Amino acid sequence: MATTKKKPAKAETHAQNDNAHLLKNRAYINGAWVSAKNKKTFDVTNPATQEKIASVPDCNAADTKAAIDAAFTAFPAWRKTLVKDRANILRKWAALIEANIDVLANILTTEQGKPLAESKVEISGGAAMIEWAAEEARRMYGDTIPAFKDGARVITTREPIGVVGAITPWNFPHSMITRKVGPAIAAGNTVVLKPAEATPLSALALAALAHQAGLPKGVLNIVTSAQAKVVGATLTGDDRVRKISFTGSTEVGRLLVAQSAPTLKKVSMELGGNAPFIVFDDADLEKAVAGAIASKFRNAGQTCICANRLYVQKGIYTEFLKSFQKSIEKLKLGTGQEKGVQIGPLINHDAIDKVTALLKDATGKGAKVLTGGHKTDDYGLGWFFEPTLIAPANQKMRLAREEIFGPVAAIFPFKTEEEVIKRANDTEFGLAAYFYTKDLGRAFRVAEGLEYGMVGVNEPVVSSESIPFGGVKQSGYGREGGPQSLEDYSLLKYTLLGGI
Ligand code: ADP
Repeated sequence: MATTKKKPAKAETHAQNDNAHLLKNRAYINGAWVSAKNKKTFDVTNPATQEKIASVPDCNAADTKAAIDAAFTAFPAWRKTLVKDRANILRKWAALIEANIDVLANILTTEQGKPLAESKVEISGGAAMIEWAAEEARRMYGDTIPAFKDGARVITTREPIGVVGAITPWNFPHSMITRKVGPAIAAGNTVVLKPAEATPLSALALAALAHQAGLPKGVLNIVTSAQAKVVGATLTGDDRVRKISFTGSTEVGRLLVAQSAPTLKKVSMELGGNAPFIVFDDADLEKAVAGAIASKFRNAGQTCICANRLYVQKGIYTEFLKSFQKSIEKLKLGTGQEKGVQIGPLINHDAIDKVTALLKDATGKGAKVLTGGHKTDDYGLGWFFEPTLIAPANQKMRLAREEIFGPVAAIFPFKTEEEVIKRANDTEFGLAAYFYTKDLGRAFRVAEGLEYGMVGVNEPVVSSESIPFGGVKQSGYGREGGPQSLEDYSLLKYTLLGGI
Protein backbone atom coordinates (compact mmCIF):
# COMPACT_ATOMS: atom_id res chain seq x y z
CA MET A 1 0.00 0.00 0.00
CA ALA A 2 1.23 3.54 -0.70
CA THR A 3 2.58 5.17 2.39
CA THR A 4 2.02 8.74 3.45
CA LYS A 5 3.00 8.22 7.05
CA LYS A 6 2.45 11.63 8.46
CA LYS A 7 0.27 12.96 11.23
CA PRO A 8 -3.29 13.74 10.17
CA ALA A 9 -4.34 17.31 9.44
CA LYS A 10 -6.32 19.16 12.09
CA ALA A 11 -9.59 18.57 10.33
CA GLU A 12 -11.81 19.66 13.19
CA THR A 13 -10.14 23.06 13.38
CA HIS A 14 -10.92 23.53 9.70
CA ALA A 15 -14.50 22.60 10.39
CA GLN A 16 -14.80 25.13 13.16
CA ASN A 17 -13.10 27.99 11.34
CA ASP A 18 -14.55 27.64 7.88
CA ASN A 19 -17.87 26.00 8.51
CA ALA A 20 -19.24 28.00 11.41
CA HIS A 21 -22.54 28.86 9.76
CA LEU A 22 -23.30 25.17 9.09
CA LEU A 23 -21.62 23.58 12.08
CA LYS A 24 -24.53 23.47 14.52
CA ASN A 25 -24.45 22.12 18.05
CA ARG A 26 -28.15 22.21 18.91
CA ALA A 27 -31.06 20.00 17.92
CA TYR A 28 -33.51 21.46 15.38
CA ILE A 29 -37.09 21.32 16.63
CA ASN A 30 -40.01 23.41 15.39
CA GLY A 31 -37.73 25.62 13.32
CA ALA A 32 -35.52 26.52 16.30
CA TRP A 33 -32.06 25.45 17.52
CA VAL A 34 -32.58 23.95 20.95
CA SER A 35 -30.74 22.16 23.76
CA ALA A 36 -32.10 18.97 25.32
CA LYS A 37 -34.66 19.87 28.00
CA ASN A 38 -32.33 18.42 30.65
CA LYS A 39 -29.30 20.16 29.04
CA LYS A 40 -27.43 16.87 28.57
CA THR A 41 -25.01 16.58 25.65
CA PHE A 42 -22.76 13.98 24.05
CA ASP A 43 -19.50 14.35 22.15
CA VAL A 44 -18.90 13.83 18.46
CA THR A 45 -15.37 12.68 17.62
CA ASN A 46 -13.23 12.56 14.50
CA PRO A 47 -12.48 8.88 13.71
CA ALA A 48 -9.23 9.89 11.98
CA THR A 49 -7.80 11.57 15.08
CA GLN A 50 -10.05 10.55 18.00
CA GLU A 51 -10.35 14.26 18.79
CA LYS A 52 -13.60 15.88 19.87
CA ILE A 53 -15.32 17.94 17.16
CA ALA A 54 -18.44 19.13 18.99
CA SER A 55 -21.00 18.38 21.70
CA VAL A 56 -24.64 18.07 20.70
CA PRO A 57 -27.89 17.64 22.69
CA ASP A 58 -28.55 14.17 24.06
CA CYS A 59 -32.31 14.29 23.43
CA ASN A 60 -34.56 11.92 25.34
CA ALA A 61 -38.25 10.97 25.23
CA ALA A 62 -39.46 14.46 26.25
CA ASP A 63 -37.46 16.13 23.46
CA THR A 64 -38.64 13.54 20.95
CA LYS A 65 -42.25 14.18 22.02
CA ALA A 66 -41.69 17.92 21.48
CA ALA A 67 -40.45 17.16 17.96
CA ILE A 68 -43.47 14.95 17.26
CA ASP A 69 -45.76 17.72 18.58
CA ALA A 70 -44.09 20.17 16.18
CA ALA A 71 -44.34 17.80 13.20
CA PHE A 72 -47.97 16.96 14.02
CA THR A 73 -48.90 20.63 14.31
CA ALA A 74 -47.14 21.53 11.06
CA PHE A 75 -48.72 18.71 9.06
CA PRO A 76 -52.20 20.12 8.20
CA ALA A 77 -50.79 23.30 6.65
CA TRP A 78 -47.88 21.53 4.92
CA ARG A 79 -50.10 18.91 3.30
CA LYS A 80 -52.28 21.69 1.88
CA THR A 81 -49.43 23.64 0.25
CA LEU A 82 -49.51 23.53 -3.53
CA VAL A 83 -47.17 20.88 -4.77
CA LYS A 84 -45.33 23.43 -6.89
CA ASP A 85 -44.59 25.47 -3.76
CA ARG A 86 -43.25 22.39 -1.97
CA ALA A 87 -41.17 21.53 -5.02
CA ASN A 88 -39.76 25.06 -5.17
CA ILE A 89 -38.58 24.93 -1.55
CA LEU A 90 -37.01 21.51 -2.15
CA ARG A 91 -35.24 22.70 -5.28
CA LYS A 92 -33.91 25.70 -3.39
CA TRP A 93 -32.68 23.36 -0.64
CA ALA A 94 -30.92 21.17 -3.22
CA ALA A 95 -29.29 24.25 -4.79
CA LEU A 96 -28.05 25.44 -1.38
CA ILE A 97 -26.57 21.99 -0.71
CA GLU A 98 -24.65 22.15 -4.00
CA ALA A 99 -23.55 25.73 -3.29
CA ASN A 100 -22.16 24.66 0.11
CA ILE A 101 -20.68 21.36 -1.01
CA ASP A 102 -17.13 22.10 0.18
CA VAL A 103 -18.27 23.04 3.68
CA LEU A 104 -20.66 20.09 3.92
CA ALA A 105 -17.99 17.68 2.66
CA ASN A 106 -15.53 18.90 5.26
CA ILE A 107 -18.08 18.40 8.05
CA LEU A 108 -18.97 14.94 6.73
CA THR A 109 -15.36 13.81 6.41
CA THR A 110 -14.48 15.19 9.82
CA GLU A 111 -17.22 13.26 11.63
CA GLN A 112 -17.32 10.13 9.45
CA GLY A 113 -13.80 9.72 8.06
CA LYS A 114 -14.37 9.01 4.36
CA PRO A 115 -12.15 10.78 1.80
CA LEU A 116 -13.31 14.28 0.81
CA ALA A 117 -13.86 13.17 -2.80
CA GLU A 118 -16.31 10.49 -1.59
CA SER A 119 -18.06 13.00 0.68
CA LYS A 120 -18.62 15.28 -2.30
CA VAL A 121 -20.09 12.46 -4.38
CA GLU A 122 -22.41 11.63 -1.49
CA ILE A 123 -23.50 15.24 -1.07
CA SER A 124 -24.17 15.75 -4.77
CA GLY A 125 -26.17 12.54 -4.72
CA GLY A 126 -28.11 13.85 -1.73
CA ALA A 127 -28.98 17.10 -3.51
CA ALA A 128 -29.98 15.10 -6.59
CA MET A 129 -32.31 12.98 -4.46
CA ILE A 130 -34.09 16.07 -3.11
CA GLU A 131 -34.43 17.48 -6.61
CA TRP A 132 -35.74 14.14 -7.88
CA ALA A 133 -38.34 14.04 -5.11
CA ALA A 134 -39.43 17.59 -5.98
CA GLU A 135 -39.94 16.57 -9.60
CA GLU A 136 -41.76 13.35 -8.70
CA ALA A 137 -44.09 15.22 -6.33
CA ARG A 138 -45.44 17.18 -9.28
CA ARG A 139 -46.45 13.88 -10.83
CA MET A 140 -48.34 12.35 -7.91
CA TYR A 141 -51.13 11.53 -10.32
CA GLY A 142 -54.25 9.57 -9.49
CA ASP A 143 -56.53 7.54 -11.77
CA THR A 144 -60.11 7.58 -12.85
CA ILE A 145 -61.62 4.12 -13.06
CA PRO A 146 -64.71 3.29 -15.14
CA ALA A 147 -67.65 3.34 -12.72
CA PHE A 148 -69.09 0.04 -11.52
CA LYS A 149 -72.61 1.45 -11.10
CA ASP A 150 -74.92 3.99 -12.77
CA GLY A 151 -74.59 7.65 -11.84
CA ALA A 152 -71.21 7.19 -10.20
CA ARG A 153 -67.60 8.21 -10.76
CA VAL A 154 -64.51 6.54 -9.30
CA ILE A 155 -61.25 8.38 -8.67
CA THR A 156 -58.02 7.56 -6.85
CA THR A 157 -55.65 10.09 -5.29
CA ARG A 158 -52.33 9.89 -3.47
CA GLU A 159 -52.24 11.61 -0.10
CA PRO A 160 -49.50 12.25 2.45
CA ILE A 161 -49.35 9.88 5.43
CA GLY A 162 -48.68 12.32 8.30
CA VAL A 163 -45.72 12.43 10.67
CA VAL A 164 -42.80 10.28 9.51
CA GLY A 165 -40.22 9.03 12.03
CA ALA A 166 -36.85 8.47 10.35
CA ILE A 167 -33.73 6.85 11.79
CA THR A 168 -30.48 6.87 9.81
CA PRO A 169 -26.99 5.31 10.05
CA TRP A 170 -23.49 6.82 10.18
CA ASN A 171 -21.98 5.37 6.99
CA PHE A 172 -23.72 7.90 4.71
CA PRO A 173 -24.59 10.71 7.14
CA HIS A 174 -25.91 12.98 4.38
CA SER A 175 -27.48 10.87 1.65
CA MET A 176 -29.31 8.43 3.96
CA ILE A 177 -31.18 11.48 5.25
CA THR A 178 -31.98 13.14 1.92
CA ARG A 179 -33.28 9.90 0.43
CA LYS A 180 -35.89 9.72 3.20
CA VAL A 181 -36.61 13.36 3.95
CA GLY A 182 -36.72 14.45 0.28
CA PRO A 183 -39.58 12.14 -0.76
CA ALA A 184 -41.30 12.42 2.64
CA ILE A 185 -41.70 16.19 2.62
CA ALA A 186 -42.18 16.37 -1.16
CA ALA A 187 -45.26 14.18 -0.70
CA GLY A 188 -46.61 16.53 2.00
CA ASN A 189 -45.54 14.70 5.17
CA THR A 190 -43.64 16.16 8.12
CA VAL A 191 -40.59 14.46 9.65
CA VAL A 192 -38.86 13.74 12.94
CA LEU A 193 -35.38 12.42 12.19
CA LYS A 194 -32.82 10.87 14.48
CA PRO A 195 -29.38 10.74 12.88
CA ALA A 196 -26.75 8.23 14.05
CA GLU A 197 -24.99 9.31 17.24
CA ALA A 198 -21.58 9.15 15.50
CA THR A 199 -22.59 11.59 12.74
CA PRO A 200 -25.21 14.15 13.82
CA LEU A 201 -23.38 17.18 12.36
CA SER A 202 -24.18 16.48 8.70
CA ALA A 203 -27.86 16.15 9.66
CA LEU A 204 -27.85 19.49 11.48
CA ALA A 205 -26.05 21.19 8.57
CA LEU A 206 -28.76 19.86 6.25
CA ALA A 207 -31.44 21.28 8.54
CA ALA A 208 -29.70 24.68 8.55
CA LEU A 209 -29.88 24.76 4.75
CA ALA A 210 -33.51 23.58 4.72
CA HIS A 211 -34.31 26.46 7.08
CA GLN A 212 -32.50 28.85 4.74
CA ALA A 213 -34.48 27.47 1.80
CA GLY A 214 -37.70 28.48 3.55
CA LEU A 215 -38.97 25.15 4.85
CA PRO A 216 -41.72 26.07 7.37
CA LYS A 217 -41.14 25.33 11.05
CA GLY A 218 -42.03 21.84 12.21
CA VAL A 219 -41.84 20.23 8.76
CA LEU A 220 -38.37 18.82 9.46
CA ASN A 221 -37.14 18.18 13.00
CA ILE A 222 -33.73 16.75 13.90
CA VAL A 223 -33.41 15.03 17.27
CA THR A 224 -29.76 14.31 18.13
CA SER A 225 -29.36 11.62 20.76
CA ALA A 226 -27.05 8.99 22.18
CA GLN A 227 -30.15 7.18 23.49
CA ALA A 228 -31.24 5.51 20.28
CA LYS A 229 -33.46 3.00 22.08
CA VAL A 230 -35.41 5.72 23.89
CA VAL A 231 -35.91 7.84 20.77
CA GLY A 232 -36.87 4.74 18.75
CA ALA A 233 -39.40 3.62 21.37
CA THR A 234 -40.90 7.13 21.56
CA LEU A 235 -41.29 7.41 17.79
CA THR A 236 -42.73 3.92 17.35
CA GLY A 237 -44.93 4.20 20.44
CA ASP A 238 -46.68 7.40 19.37
CA ASP A 239 -49.88 6.93 17.41
CA ARG A 240 -49.40 10.30 15.69
CA VAL A 241 -46.30 8.94 13.94
CA ARG A 242 -47.80 7.14 10.95
CA LYS A 243 -44.69 5.89 9.24
CA ILE A 244 -41.26 4.67 10.27
CA SER A 245 -38.41 4.75 7.79
CA PHE A 246 -35.19 3.11 8.92
CA THR A 247 -31.77 2.36 7.48
CA GLY A 248 -29.43 0.29 9.62
CA SER A 249 -28.86 -3.20 10.90
CA THR A 250 -31.34 -6.02 10.39
CA GLU A 251 -31.39 -6.55 14.15
CA VAL A 252 -32.59 -3.01 14.92
CA GLY A 253 -34.91 -3.07 11.89
CA ARG A 254 -36.66 -6.16 13.25
CA LEU A 255 -37.09 -4.43 16.61
CA LEU A 256 -38.56 -1.28 15.04
CA VAL A 257 -41.01 -3.33 12.95
CA ALA A 258 -42.12 -5.15 16.11
CA GLN A 259 -42.48 -1.85 17.98
CA SER A 260 -44.51 -0.43 15.08
CA ALA A 261 -46.90 -3.37 15.03
CA PRO A 262 -49.27 -2.28 17.85
CA THR A 263 -50.15 0.93 15.99
CA LEU A 264 -49.78 -0.71 12.54
CA LYS A 265 -47.51 1.94 11.13
CA LYS A 266 -46.41 1.89 7.53
CA VAL A 267 -42.71 0.93 7.56
CA SER A 268 -39.75 1.10 5.17
CA MET A 269 -36.69 -0.92 6.13
CA GLU A 270 -33.33 -0.66 4.37
CA LEU A 271 -31.29 -3.21 6.29
CA GLY A 272 -28.06 -5.21 6.14
CA GLY A 273 -26.53 -6.76 3.05
CA ASN A 274 -24.06 -9.51 2.21
CA ALA A 275 -23.31 -8.76 -1.43
CA PRO A 276 -21.83 -11.45 -3.65
CA PHE A 277 -19.45 -10.17 -6.35
CA ILE A 278 -19.00 -12.89 -8.96
CA VAL A 279 -16.26 -12.97 -11.57
CA PHE A 280 -16.79 -15.56 -14.32
CA ASP A 281 -13.97 -17.00 -16.46
CA ASP A 282 -15.23 -15.01 -19.45
CA ALA A 283 -15.15 -11.64 -17.65
CA ASP A 284 -13.05 -8.67 -18.75
CA LEU A 285 -10.31 -9.05 -16.14
CA GLU A 286 -9.30 -5.41 -16.00
CA LYS A 287 -12.89 -4.21 -15.57
CA ALA A 288 -13.64 -6.90 -12.99
CA VAL A 289 -10.62 -5.89 -10.89
CA ALA A 290 -11.49 -2.18 -11.12
CA GLY A 291 -15.11 -3.01 -10.25
CA ALA A 292 -14.07 -5.11 -7.27
CA ILE A 293 -11.89 -2.29 -5.93
CA ALA A 294 -14.74 0.22 -6.34
CA SER A 295 -17.33 -2.07 -4.79
CA LYS A 296 -15.22 -3.41 -1.93
CA PHE A 297 -13.24 -0.40 -0.78
CA ARG A 298 -15.63 2.56 -1.06
CA ASN A 299 -16.01 4.16 2.37
CA ALA A 300 -13.34 1.69 3.62
CA GLY A 301 -15.80 -1.15 3.03
CA GLN A 302 -18.46 0.40 5.25
CA THR A 303 -21.48 0.33 2.95
CA CYS A 304 -24.44 -2.02 3.00
CA ILE A 305 -23.99 -2.73 -0.73
CA CYS A 306 -20.23 -3.41 -0.54
CA ALA A 307 -18.94 -6.63 -2.08
CA ASN A 308 -18.82 -8.94 0.94
CA ARG A 309 -18.05 -12.26 -0.79
CA LEU A 310 -15.96 -12.22 -3.97
CA TYR A 311 -16.61 -15.43 -5.93
CA VAL A 312 -14.00 -16.03 -8.62
CA GLN A 313 -14.23 -18.88 -11.16
CA LYS A 314 -11.36 -21.39 -11.35
CA GLY A 315 -10.14 -20.47 -14.85
CA ILE A 316 -9.50 -16.81 -13.98
CA TYR A 317 -8.72 -17.28 -10.28
CA THR A 318 -4.91 -16.95 -10.24
CA GLU A 319 -4.83 -14.09 -12.71
CA PHE A 320 -7.59 -12.17 -10.91
CA LEU A 321 -5.99 -12.63 -7.51
CA LYS A 322 -2.62 -11.34 -8.72
CA SER A 323 -4.05 -8.27 -10.38
CA PHE A 324 -6.51 -7.53 -7.54
CA GLN A 325 -3.71 -7.75 -4.96
CA LYS A 326 -1.60 -5.31 -6.98
CA SER A 327 -4.48 -2.81 -7.10
CA ILE A 328 -5.18 -3.18 -3.38
CA GLU A 329 -1.54 -2.50 -2.55
CA LYS A 330 -1.73 0.77 -4.48
CA LEU A 331 -4.65 2.12 -2.41
CA LYS A 332 -3.71 5.20 -0.43
CA LEU A 333 -4.70 5.16 3.22
CA GLY A 334 -4.93 8.31 5.34
CA THR A 335 -7.00 11.11 6.79
CA GLY A 336 -9.97 11.97 4.58
CA GLN A 337 -8.89 15.60 4.11
CA GLU A 338 -5.47 14.59 2.76
CA LYS A 339 -5.13 14.85 -1.02
CA GLY A 340 -5.36 11.60 -2.96
CA VAL A 341 -6.45 9.47 0.00
CA GLN A 342 -8.73 6.57 -1.03
CA ILE A 343 -9.25 4.80 2.31
CA GLY A 344 -10.08 6.67 5.51
CA PRO A 345 -10.43 5.33 9.05
CA LEU A 346 -13.15 2.97 10.26
CA ILE A 347 -15.86 4.59 12.34
CA ASN A 348 -14.77 3.43 15.81
CA HIS A 349 -12.94 0.89 17.89
CA ASP A 350 -15.77 -1.65 17.69
CA ALA A 351 -15.39 -1.71 13.90
CA ILE A 352 -11.68 -2.53 14.25
CA ASP A 353 -12.52 -5.29 16.74
CA LYS A 354 -15.15 -6.79 14.45
CA VAL A 355 -12.90 -6.88 11.38
CA THR A 356 -10.05 -8.33 13.44
CA ALA A 357 -12.32 -11.07 14.84
CA LEU A 358 -13.67 -11.96 11.37
CA LEU A 359 -10.10 -12.23 10.03
CA LYS A 360 -9.02 -14.41 12.93
CA ASP A 361 -11.96 -16.71 12.32
CA ALA A 362 -11.23 -16.90 8.57
CA THR A 363 -7.50 -17.63 8.96
CA GLY A 364 -8.37 -20.24 11.60
CA LYS A 365 -10.54 -21.94 8.95
CA GLY A 366 -7.89 -22.03 6.21
CA ALA A 367 -7.69 -18.56 4.59
CA LYS A 368 -4.29 -16.90 4.02
CA VAL A 369 -3.71 -13.16 4.37
CA LEU A 370 -2.18 -12.06 1.05
CA THR A 371 -1.87 -8.39 1.93
CA GLY A 372 -2.79 -6.14 4.89
CA GLY A 373 -4.51 -7.74 7.87
CA HIS A 374 -3.90 -5.27 10.69
CA LYS A 375 -4.96 -2.09 12.38
CA THR A 376 -2.30 0.49 11.67
CA ASP A 377 -1.10 3.43 13.77
CA ASP A 378 0.94 4.91 10.92
CA TYR A 379 -1.62 7.66 10.27
CA GLY A 380 -2.14 8.94 13.79
CA LEU A 381 -4.53 7.95 16.53
CA GLY A 382 -7.47 7.13 14.27
CA TRP A 383 -9.17 3.80 13.58
CA PHE A 384 -7.18 2.85 10.48
CA PHE A 385 -7.19 -0.69 9.13
CA GLU A 386 -5.00 -1.84 6.23
CA PRO A 387 -6.74 -2.76 2.97
CA THR A 388 -6.69 -6.54 3.17
CA LEU A 389 -6.94 -9.50 0.81
CA ILE A 390 -7.55 -13.06 1.98
CA ALA A 391 -8.00 -16.34 0.08
CA PRO A 392 -9.33 -18.95 -0.20
CA ALA A 393 -12.52 -18.25 1.76
CA ASN A 394 -15.35 -20.74 2.30
CA GLN A 395 -18.99 -20.77 3.45
CA LYS A 396 -18.04 -21.95 6.95
CA MET A 397 -16.31 -18.68 7.77
CA ARG A 398 -18.19 -16.00 9.69
CA LEU A 399 -17.52 -13.47 6.94
CA ALA A 400 -19.55 -15.60 4.53
CA ARG A 401 -22.62 -14.91 6.70
CA GLU A 402 -21.92 -11.54 8.34
CA GLU A 403 -21.36 -8.07 6.94
CA ILE A 404 -17.62 -7.34 7.16
CA PHE A 405 -18.05 -3.54 7.12
CA GLY A 406 -14.33 -2.99 6.70
CA PRO A 407 -11.60 -3.02 4.01
CA VAL A 408 -11.25 -6.80 3.86
CA ALA A 409 -11.71 -8.62 0.54
CA ALA A 410 -12.35 -12.36 0.85
CA ILE A 411 -12.02 -14.49 -2.29
CA PHE A 412 -14.19 -17.60 -2.66
CA PRO A 413 -13.17 -19.91 -5.55
CA PHE A 414 -15.98 -21.63 -7.52
CA LYS A 415 -16.42 -23.98 -10.49
CA THR A 416 -19.83 -23.66 -12.15
CA GLU A 417 -22.53 -21.07 -12.79
CA GLU A 418 -25.18 -23.20 -11.11
CA GLU A 419 -23.03 -23.67 -8.01
CA VAL A 420 -22.22 -19.98 -7.62
CA ILE A 421 -25.85 -18.84 -7.93
CA LYS A 422 -26.76 -21.27 -5.17
CA ARG A 423 -23.89 -20.11 -2.95
CA ALA A 424 -24.58 -16.42 -3.67
CA ASN A 425 -28.18 -16.90 -2.53
CA ASP A 426 -27.16 -18.86 0.57
CA THR A 427 -27.71 -15.95 2.98
CA GLU A 428 -30.69 -14.40 4.72
CA PHE A 429 -29.79 -11.06 3.09
CA GLY A 430 -30.81 -9.86 -0.39
CA LEU A 431 -29.74 -6.29 -1.00
CA ALA A 432 -27.18 -5.94 -3.84
CA ALA A 433 -25.30 -8.46 -6.00
CA TYR A 434 -22.74 -8.00 -8.77
CA PHE A 435 -21.27 -10.18 -11.47
CA TYR A 436 -18.90 -9.88 -14.41
CA THR A 437 -19.34 -11.80 -17.65
CA LYS A 438 -19.24 -11.13 -21.39
CA ASP A 439 -21.77 -13.86 -22.17
CA LEU A 440 -25.21 -12.34 -22.87
CA GLY A 441 -27.16 -15.50 -22.07
CA ARG A 442 -25.31 -15.89 -18.78
CA ALA A 443 -25.95 -12.23 -17.96
CA PHE A 444 -29.73 -12.88 -18.11
CA ARG A 445 -29.62 -16.30 -16.41
CA VAL A 446 -27.54 -15.13 -13.47
CA ALA A 447 -29.34 -11.77 -13.03
CA GLU A 448 -32.64 -13.67 -12.88
CA GLY A 449 -31.23 -16.34 -10.56
CA LEU A 450 -29.94 -13.94 -7.91
CA GLU A 451 -32.39 -13.29 -5.06
CA TYR A 452 -31.46 -9.64 -4.57
CA GLY A 453 -33.20 -6.28 -4.83
CA MET A 454 -30.42 -4.81 -6.99
CA VAL A 455 -28.06 -6.48 -9.45
CA GLY A 456 -25.06 -4.87 -11.16
CA VAL A 457 -23.92 -6.67 -14.32
CA ASN A 458 -20.38 -5.56 -15.23
CA GLU A 459 -21.10 -2.50 -13.05
CA PRO A 460 -19.98 -1.93 -9.46
CA VAL A 461 -21.98 1.25 -8.67
CA VAL A 462 -25.73 0.71 -8.63
CA SER A 463 -26.88 3.66 -6.55
CA SER A 464 -28.57 6.76 -8.01
CA GLU A 465 -31.57 8.95 -7.22
CA SER A 466 -33.27 7.61 -10.36
CA ILE A 467 -33.40 3.92 -9.34
CA PRO A 468 -35.48 2.04 -6.75
CA PHE A 469 -32.91 1.29 -4.04
CA GLY A 470 -33.81 -1.50 -1.63
CA GLY A 471 -33.62 -5.15 -0.77
CA VAL A 472 -35.51 -8.42 -0.43
CA LYS A 473 -35.47 -11.16 2.22
CA GLN A 474 -34.02 -9.90 5.52
CA SER A 475 -32.48 -6.88 3.81
CA GLY A 476 -35.88 -5.27 4.22
CA TYR A 477 -38.66 -3.73 2.16
CA GLY A 478 -39.64 -0.41 0.65
CA ARG A 479 -37.75 1.42 -2.08
CA GLU A 480 -35.88 4.72 -1.95
CA GLY A 481 -35.50 6.76 -5.15
CA GLY A 482 -36.71 5.99 -8.63
CA PRO A 483 -40.15 6.53 -10.13
CA GLN A 484 -41.70 4.72 -7.13
CA SER A 485 -40.00 6.84 -4.46
CA LEU A 486 -43.14 8.71 -3.35
CA GLU A 487 -45.27 5.57 -3.09
CA ASP A 488 -43.64 4.65 0.22
CA TYR A 489 -44.44 8.13 1.56
CA SER A 490 -48.06 8.41 0.42
CA LEU A 491 -51.37 6.61 0.80
CA LEU A 492 -53.70 5.59 -1.97
CA LYS A 493 -57.27 6.84 -1.48
CA TYR A 494 -60.26 5.78 -3.56
CA THR A 495 -63.31 8.04 -3.71
CA LEU A 496 -66.71 6.96 -5.06
CA LEU A 497 -68.93 9.85 -6.17
CA GLY A 498 -72.59 8.90 -6.45
CA GLY A 499 -75.82 10.64 -7.44
CA ILE A 500 -74.43 12.08 -10.66
P1 ADP B 1 -25.02 0.30 12.62
O1 ADP B 1 -24.48 -1.06 12.84
O2 ADP B 1 -24.91 0.82 11.24
O3 ADP B 1 -24.64 1.29 13.67
P2 ADP B 1 -27.60 0.30 13.81
O4 ADP B 1 -28.81 -0.41 13.31
O5 ADP B 1 -27.10 -0.03 15.15
O6 ADP B 1 -26.54 0.07 12.68
O7 ADP B 1 -27.81 1.87 13.76
C1 ADP B 1 -28.52 2.54 12.75
C2 ADP B 1 -29.34 3.62 13.39
O8 ADP B 1 -30.26 3.00 14.28
C3 ADP B 1 -28.55 4.63 14.22
O9 ADP B 1 -29.14 5.91 14.09
C4 ADP B 1 -28.74 4.11 15.63
O10 ADP B 1 -28.63 5.11 16.61
C5 ADP B 1 -30.16 3.61 15.56
N1 ADP B 1 -30.53 2.60 16.58
C6 ADP B 1 -29.75 1.68 17.17
N2 ADP B 1 -30.46 0.96 18.05
C7 ADP B 1 -31.72 1.43 18.04
C8 ADP B 1 -32.94 1.11 18.72
N3 ADP B 1 -32.98 0.14 19.62
N4 ADP B 1 -34.05 1.82 18.42
C9 ADP B 1 -34.00 2.82 17.51
N5 ADP B 1 -32.91 3.16 16.82
C10 ADP B 1 -31.77 2.49 17.08
